[in-house]
Amino acid sequence: MPTALEITKLTKRYPTGVDALKGVSLSIEDGEFFGLLGPNGAGKSTLIHCATGLAQPTSGTIEIFGNDAIHHYREARAAVGLAPQELNLDWFLTVEESLDYHGGYFGMPKRERRERVAELLDTFSLTDKRDDRTRTLSGGMKRRLILARAMLHRPRLLILDEPTAGVDVELRLELWHYVQRVNAEGTTILLTTHYLEEAEQLCNQIAFINDGEIVAQGTSAELADRYGTASLEDAYLTLVGRKELSRAHIADAGEAEGTT
Ligand code: ADP
Repeated sequence: MPTALEITKLTKRYPTGVDALKGVSLSIEDGEFFGLLGPNGAGKSTLIHCATGLAQPTSGTIEIFGNDAIHHYREARAAVGLAPQELNLDWFLTVEESLDYHGGYFGMPKRERRERVAELLDTFSLTDKRDDRTRTLSGGMKRRLILARAMLHRPRLLILDEPTAGVDVELRLELWHYVQRVNAEGTTILLTTHYLEEAEQLCNQIAFINDGEIVAQGTSAELADRYGTASLEDAYLTLVGRKELSRAHIADAGEAEGTT
């Protein structure tokens, strides 16, 4: 069984001279829920863009279920569903059209598309919005539509780029619930997030990326152990050089102040 995503010595230098990825190797097993964490500018989006053909790697290889992302682009791309960070919907299409066109883009026959669209509208509670233009949806509905669209062609690997950035608590929990179910049904997931509790809750493997390099990988408990910290959050703060922000540290400092 090939791995879901196999990245080997990936580098990306933008024309500006920025080295966004400096030799990243990463292996995501079929069925895993994998979290990629790192500060802004660490290279997360660049990695996702390279894996989905939106950016051309400078060197290194990317295989998606055994298909090279460049030389077998169609096969590799067909296996991936991407829910991007930005709400990149076509504001003039209806909800149903947005899904239907996406299925068409991935070569799904009309009848299959119709059934799949109806199923996803139902799953994401968007059925009564099917004829509404996407620009009229609430922020939460747009997020749900983006996730439904990413799932439409039944990808084996789902890439979620900060899917819960700026969403309210209810929608965050709703999205967690949904992606956990999708994962339990066999879809491999790569998630980037700034919310450490989200990664802790959802991911069975987590990698820290910093300045274009993977600096650590393991389960949440293993990473805390590696950095000699009590939690994933503290491990992360150690990584980004901001240990003083640790809640444990702040509590200790508060207590020490109270005793003097
Ligand atoms: P993250 O998603 O972790 O915030 P990015 O992959 O967006 O990180 O960025 C990694 C580095 O590459 C940053 O230094 C960023 O400024 C740079 N970068 C990203 N996109 C481009 C681009 N299109 N052209 C030039 N530099 C870029």
